[in-house]
Amino acid sequence: MKTDIQIAQEAEMSHIRDVAASIGIEEDNLELYGKYKAKLSDDLYDKIKDNPDGKLVLVTAINPTPAGEGKTTTTVGLGEAFAKMNKKAIIALREPSLGPCFGIKGGAAGGGYAQVVPMEDLNLHFTGDFHAITSANNLLAALLDNHIQQGNALGIDPRQVVWKRCVDMNDRNLRNIVVGLGNKTDGMVREDHFVITVASEIMAILCLAEDIKDLKARLGRIIVAYNFQGDPVTADDLQATGAMTALLKDAIKPNLIQTLEHTPALVHGGPFANIAHGCNSVRATRMALKLADITITEAGFGADLGAEKFMDIKCRMSGLKPDAVVLVATVRALKYNGGVPKDQLSDENLEALAKGIVNLEKHIENIQKYDVPVVVTLNSFVTDTDAENEYIRRFCEERGCEFALSEVWEKGGEGGIALAEKVLETLENKESHFHPLYEDGLSLQEKIETISKEIYGARGVIFEPKAAKQLAKIEAMGFGNMPVCMAKNQYSLSDDAKKLGRPTDFDIHIREAYVSSGAGFVVALTGAVMTMPGLPKVPAANNIDVTEDGQITGLF
Ligand code: ADP
Ligand code: MG
Repeated sequence: MKTDIQIAQEAEMSHIRDVAASIGIEEDNLELYGKYKAKLSDDLYDKIKDNPDGKLVLVTAINPTPAGEGKTTTTVGLGEAFAKMNKKAIIALREPSLGPCFGIKGGAAGGGYAQVVPMEDLNLHFTGDFHAITSANNLLAALLDNHIQQGNALGIDPRQVVWKRCVDMNDRNLRNIVVGLGNKTDGMVREDHFVITVASEIMAILCLAEDIKDLKARLGRIIVAYNFQGDPVTADDLQATGAMTALLKDAIKPNLIQTLEHTPALVHGGPFANIAHGCNSVRATRMALKLADITITEAGFGADLGAEKFMDIKCRMSGLKPDAVVLVATVRALKYNGGVPKDQLSDENLEALAKGIVNLEKHIENIQKYDVPVVVTLNSFVTDTDAENEYIRRFCEERGCEFALSEVWEKGGEGGIALAEKVLETLENKESHFHPLYEDGLSLQEKIETISKEIYGARGVIFEPKAAKQLAKIEAMGFGNMPVCMAKNQYSLSDDAKKLGRPTDFDIHIREAYVSSGAGFVVALTGAVMTMPGLPKVPAANNIDVTEDGQITGLF
């Protein structure tokens, strides 16, 4: 079997102008970044904004194994399969972060014969969006420290600076640092922190912003610090908003690339799925809906985090409405949820499968709470057995749930036709009556309780005193109407990564809360969340190289 990068590098790509033409975009409306990447111009947005919307399909998954269950792979494969059926479809994905490419995780361009290309570009600098976000983030940090240095007219309490610097690299040494060391002219000494770029609030803002005007308004509302009275100080207070927007004016335009089968892919933005909402930009999804009959998009992590935030944050804010959900399961992850250790997932084990399938059952029930039709797909691995496949098919059918096997990793679009047909049937015959899980008017604590009980299956929620105080302050500041963004581990429905399957009789513990006022949500943390990853003992970077003729090797 070839590696992902081998398959990607052997692909004969079409000129991006031709990919654009296949969905009716003229070259005049493209901003080309070489032959295989383009941004969609603002003129195009104005031209298509009154087109009727196509159908929106969300791809999400059960609780995964640490290797990932193939949401991106399935999304790409579906795009390829619809093209084979002569349907006009676009996929919308997140851009990968640079840092993890050099660690253990690798990139995020799909896998096997369901990938987007150019894979190396996408995983490395791409069109510079993340560099722009990094710059805007750090401009704000520089303006903040300079304000303190120049007399601190706003009375910023240096101990209550909440804005962090960022870089798109896994660099644990930057998690906790001291800035301003040296002489009086070298700034005010204070503790500071770095987060990885995808964890910057600016990333979440860029992905939720409707247009430049909305982007500006959101950037201006960012809370950077509190003053000595405890009142918030914003980016607007620092007069930082205009310059930050200037740095982001191109980054807000969606990027067009292609799948291995030359079908269109909008790849734009990439917020974390724990302290942020974990899906590509609203602008990319909206443009895809205007350009195609079917848009397939992905949300990060399992459905308890990804789909919940897609529906309760992204769709609530933007007015987008999903018409169907594709729920990806793998035999491996179901066995993992049934208690099988990571190194034995390739062996047939029907007993473990039967034990772990309750995880799938819970996710099906969860999506039904949003009144959106669901199709379960089994992302097929070569190690899966017929008996295992049949067991899952029967399980779904007995519950009246649509099911299709997906072989897109092995076969590309051809391997996704069975799934695409099921999705199409669902779009044509089942109506979505999408509504968010909870109302805006509930208190923040009630929202957290609703998500915890309804989606995670928790008995209750325990708010630590610090978190309760923070939530009360956030409401007093006037942000009680915002949706809640839950930061929780992705492996378990509970806040304990070791409780697999469908845990019961557990409580969710809220340890901390803060407001991302520019993004427009309140983050509730169930435990320590890593916003600046580190590198492993043997980083992937050690094996990445470039040949003399410019070909990158060792990326995965
Ligand atoms: P997710 O989006 O859910 O995190 P990805 O689609 O990125 O998952 O896939 C994670 C990894 O698993 C990728 O390296 C991909 O190549 C691999 N993968 C996905 N599906 C399969 C499959 N059916 N067989 C083998 N490997 C797969
Ligand atoms: Mg993915």
